[in-house]
Amino acid sequence: MLYDYTRTTAEGVARITDDAIDAANELIDAIAAVAGPNTIENTLLPLNETAAIIEAAYGQGAFMARVHPDPTVRIAATEEEEKLSKWSIEVVFRPDLYAAFKRLADRDLDATPEQRRLLDFWMRDFRRAGHELDAVEQQELKQLKHRLVELEVAFGSNIDAHTDHIEVTRAELDGLPDSFIDALKPGDAEGTFRVTLDYPDLYPFLQNATNRARRKELLLKKNSSVVADNRPLLEEALELRRRIARLIGYDSWAHHSMDVKMADPVRVKQFYDALVPRLREKVKTEHAKMAQLLADEYGDDTLQQWDVSYYTTQITRDEYGVDQYKVAEYFPLETVIDGMLNITADMFGVTYRRVADPAAWHPDVYLFQVTDQDTAEHLAHFYMDLFPREGKYGHAAAFDLVAGHTSLAGEKIRPIAAMVANFTKPTKEAPSLLRHDEVLTLFHEFGHILHQTLTRAETVRFSGANTEWDFVEAPSQIMEHWTWDPDVLGRFSGHYQTGQRIPQDLVDSLVAARDVNIAAANLRQVYFGIIDLLLHDDAEKRDIDALDRQAYEVNELPFPEETFFLASFGHVMGGYDAGYYGYLWSKVFGDDMYSRFQQEGVLNPEVGRAYRRAILEQGGTKDADDLLFDFLGRPPTNEAFLANMGI
Ligand SMILES: [Zn+2]
Repeated sequence: MLYDYTRTTAEGVARITDDAIDAANELIDAIAAVAGPNTIENTLLPLNETAAIIEAAYGQGAFMARVHPDPTVRIAATEEEEKLSKWSIEVVFRPDLYAAFKRLADRDLDATPEQRRLLDFWMRDFRRAGHELDAVEQQELKQLKHRLVELEVAFGSNIDAHTDHIEVTRAELDGLPDSFIDALKPGDAEGTFRVTLDYPDLYPFLQNATNRARRKELLLKKNSSVVADNRPLLEEALELRRRIARLIGYDSWAHHSMDVKMADPVRVKQFYDALVPRLREKVKTEHAKMAQLLADEYGDDTLQQWDVSYYTTQITRDEYGVDQYKVAEYFPLETVIDGMLNITADMFGVTYRRVADPAAWHPDVYLFQVTDQDTAEHLAHFYMDLFPREGKYGHAAAFDLVAGHTSLAGEKIRPIAAMVANFTKPTKEAPSLLRHDEVLTLFHEFGHILHQTLTRAETVRFSGANTEWDFVEAPSQIMEHWTWDPDVLGRFSGHYQTGQRIPQDLVDSLVAARDVNIAAANLRQVYFGIIDLLLHDDAEKRDIDALDRQAYEVNELPFPEETFFLASFGHVMGGYDAGYYGYLWSKVFGDDMYSRFQQEGVLNPEVGRAYRRAILEQGGTKDADDLLFDFLGRPPTNEAFLANMGI
């Protein structure tokens, strides 16, 4: 069921969306109008079908907002995307749909485990949408949620709109490369330069500027920006979240947020309790080394936050001397892709076939068919759209275009996914050479593609990467491991001129450079996770300055006085509220799953097939804890994660 994207037009995208919404509404109306008993067949499965219809419309239409070369199509598709997400958000608020599901849930049902799970999840959604509240409370819930969205949008816009800078002299730019200095705008005073708070200025300056006082000034400016505007918004949002949680019957916003995830607030606390002491122990060694360098350079041995990036950069450069451009000579894009496909085909028991005439949205796009190696069963298709274009999505991500599932008519619908990235396009004269971090990105996103395409789920809600939210990155993070293993690297590296595989010493220094100050970097992530949790796991208002100070302690650094970094911490108001822990959480599980490969062979096809069956094919049809147990044969632990950091 491939779609011919060469015929895409702005009107076509709009028509696809409207038709899909009409078809979905018809199904919902029919569910609400069921006369006689509600059944799996007349209630649950039609709702599943609406999700399939909406997603397919996204894949053929709204997705074009990210990739289509024609700006008029992209603009139309952006509008259509809004319509689709609005529909998906609002459907749960329909009282007649809730009533039908309530009747269904109250019956004794002969359902498969996946159908039972789908029903349970929908009943939970209905409860969270306030259907069990009285009319006054429902109205209040609606108002609170509406206001919360306003606050979140305003908070983000304030961060985006905020600009500030410091002015520095040429001498104060010591340590920075000419290319950086050339790109700076002049300051107001003669002969000065502006260093702004934007990342392309901020990070290189903190990493390289030898002038410690100016590093401090820039960082403190960053961490005390937008306070007047955003602090009141944050405080109001925290209060609203507490009220919403209380209304629906949760102890706190963290409980509300994690009820639909793998974790719960107690487990996240335990997760940190198990990691933090060992990370803090290790960071002392890292800090001691930096403090020594600091004493030698500035005659002061109190390490501060504005010193850490600087010395991490110095140590990486001076001790390991990794030249990313030299590394890239061993990673021509085509070689890496071929290698990645060969490795994963052998490991997971699939075959990839490049489709000659993909009829995609741009001639640069590749299309692959995936079949089962043993049975030749057709499994899926995926597109690879790898090169930058004007107006194209600027990051790397994997998109679902068609969710694998069983249709209302009982037909098996095979998944279609798309990887979108921005690597340099090869030409006749110059190959596309990937830096190691780009190789990592490619493997990471391909982990999502495998998750999406190898699914055996019957329902859209649990198809592919639709797992619990805090597990979804584990199958992509695990893929990154293969880009660090010397034996595996040999299978997808080849010097663009000589074809030679990457030398061992270069691999060794890459790995060593990755691990410089790794405990400090992880503790910073832990700090973000802990403050996010502290802000959200209480039923009553607390002093957020005190909470921030308390959370900051894990960094083992002096608290930067008179700052309020939370005012520019976009995550807590941008969808990661009570969710920041998820980054490290899924990495720990990715590492744990990879440990089975480490023990039984990193390219062992038996382990690969077991992983495919237990994790990739299951999608979200089971709790992630059960998936992990099925694959590991034991409950997950953090040991592999710690061992990978040498602790
Ligand atoms: Zn990812």
